[in-house]
Amino acid sequence: MSVSEILFVVAGALLGLASQGGMFLFLIPFAVVAFSLAVMNRPNNPNTSILPVIKRDKHSTTLTPVVSPDLRNEFTNANKVESNEPNSSLQVNHIWERANSDVDKAFGDILRCLKVLMPQANTLTIFTNGGSVNELRLRMFQSDIPNCIDTGAKITENMGILSQLLRPGVSRILEGDLLVGKRLTYYIENRMIRSLVGVPLLGRDEQRLGVLLVDSLHPNAFTAAEAQALTYIAQAMFMVSFKSFASAQNYIEQQQFSTLYHYQRKFFQTMSVKDIYKQMFEYVKENMPFDRLTILALDKPKEGLGHVVYCVGMDSEQFVNKSFTLSDKGIFVLALMRNRPVFRSFNSGYADYVPRLNDYEKRNMELRQLFVMPVSSEPDSKTAELAICLESRFTNRYQDHEKKLLKAFAGVAGFAYARACQFEKGKDLATRDGLTGLMNHRSLEESLRTEKVRADRKKYNIGVLMMDIDHFKRVNDTYGHPVGDEVIKGIAFAISGEIRKEIDIVARYGGEEFVVALIDTTPEGMIETAERIRKAVGKLEFNVHQPDPLRVTVSIGAFLVEPGFTDMKKAVNNADQALYKAKDGGRNQVVRFETVETEAVGA
Ligand code: GH3
Ligand code: MG
Ligand code: MG
Repeated sequence: MSVSEILFVVAGALLGLASQGGMFLFLIPFAVVAFSLAVMNRPNNPNTSILPVIKRDKHSTTLTPVVSPDLRNEFTNANKVESNEPNSSLQVNHIWERANSDVDKAFGDILRCLKVLMPQANTLTIFTNGGSVNELRLRMFQSDIPNCIDTGAKITENMGILSQLLRPGVSRILEGDLLVGKRLTYYIENRMIRSLVGVPLLGRDEQRLGVLLVDSLHPNAFTAAEAQALTYIAQAMFMVSFKSFASAQNYIEQQQFSTLYHYQRKFFQTMSVKDIYKQMFEYVKENMPFDRLTILALDKPKEGLGHVVYCVGMDSEQFVNKSFTLSDKGIFVLALMRNRPVFRSFNSGYADYVPRLNDYEKRNMELRQLFVMPVSSEPDSKTAELAICLESRFTNRYQDHEKKLLKAFAGVAGFAYARACQFEKGKDLATRDGLTGLMNHRSLEESLRTEKVRADRKKYNIGVLMMDIDHFKRVNDTYGHPVGDEVIKGIAFAISGEIRKEIDIVARYGGEEFVVALIDTTPEGMIETAERIRKAVGKLEFNVHQPDPLRVTVSIGAFLVEPGFTDMKKAVNNADQALYKAKDGGRNQVVRFETVETEAVGA
């Protein structure tokens, strides 16, 4: 005999004695304690560590847990399927189901125990809250005549004697002389029930979560003491179910926070902003249910510009890579602008549609709940840099625990994002020129080396162009250094426009000198590109607040690195020598190194 069974027997014996009434009544609290201990000590199913799994019959009446409304909502979502129903949320549902069957097991034990202790009883029933207010549904029963019970029975208001238990202040009903022929709602057939005792299952704040009823075919079958004993048992029942669901909730939260911890580690191994976006996306996909998920990034906060980094789910194509501004007034953007979560449920009417990004988007009326969590590198900053936008077709999808979890995640993500941004900025400073954004001298050397290795393997040429602005000192002397800077920036931009992005290389080599490396080119191709650059620079006009705009020219030296030529430093020197010749030849021209001795190519 297990400890639990012994305790059940002790509880039974004590209750039996107490039912004698009089001085034995003081045994009731001891009976309840023994009973509660017995329930809590029930052996667990050896296959599970935390909550025992008891197979639930799909058609049983045991679907609804007796818990606080919040926990209950969790459970009632279990049967809904969304486009993204992550593993973790399926596990959550599973844990709720296990808690639910655990409670059923306890309730079943209690009914069986009561049936033994109250031999005069005919049927014992437990009704619990079916989700809607003021409606109780039959959850479980123990009866001598099981086939006569209506398993779909309900107790609602105005249902005679039973509905009294729904009323605030009513702590029990005790009837010993029911009219012959009076039918109780949970019987299919008219039974000759003469006695009835019932107590409410009260939650915190006296909330009516269910009732416990015992009836009998005999008149005056129950005593006031028994009614009192049932009250205590009802309290224990509430406690057992509450503890069971609270432990399920703890378990779920523990699981979720351990996933969060896992992501925190992943974040700290990440130094690129792009990877942070990706990990955010993956985390949300793995842990949150949704019908559409959108992640926004405010890339250029100063200009109020951003873009959609990820969008999946219903009607997501329209948002992928889409840019937005802070003045677009979409509800997603609102969360970014205020750095505050936004939570909304919508009616289904077209007129009630709230734009997510802007007025022109396709209106999806099916998405009925929205939850946007901003992510910012500084928790207290006025605007956030990123936003995680979840949408669902169900109006009660995002509950307290989703909100809490995403908030914790947003904190971690914001920190990781700030760190990655700083790292990228530092890396940029080291490899890029601050004025023009072009590659600097040092990283040019590195790039030329890697490009040369590739060119040798694939046997192609690299054209090296060295260019220098003509009479640039005069520009500085006449218009000032700031105008000189504008000219340098303008020329950098013009050069970039004449070469192939992502293939050719351009660097600011010195003050007003630039180097271009043309990957896989021919002698003619190299000179053509150099000429194009020279002409493009010549066409630039700079406003210097004078009748005529300022125009400048460049001189360009060119050298073709063929596969046999290995020294890239020498290559740059050769181009530089050609540049000298171009200056000597009168400036604003392209000179090729080989032809240095003979002729200038263009003027
Ligand atoms: P040349 O046609 O022979 O090249 O004549 P130049 O006047 O351009 O002579 P040089 O190339 O030697 O001139 C370099 C000048 O460029 C000197 C310096 O004042 C200016 N300079 C270098 N870096 C910067 C910069 O970052 N900003 C500005 N405004 N001027 C710069
Ligand atoms: Mg110079
Ligand atoms: Mg110059």
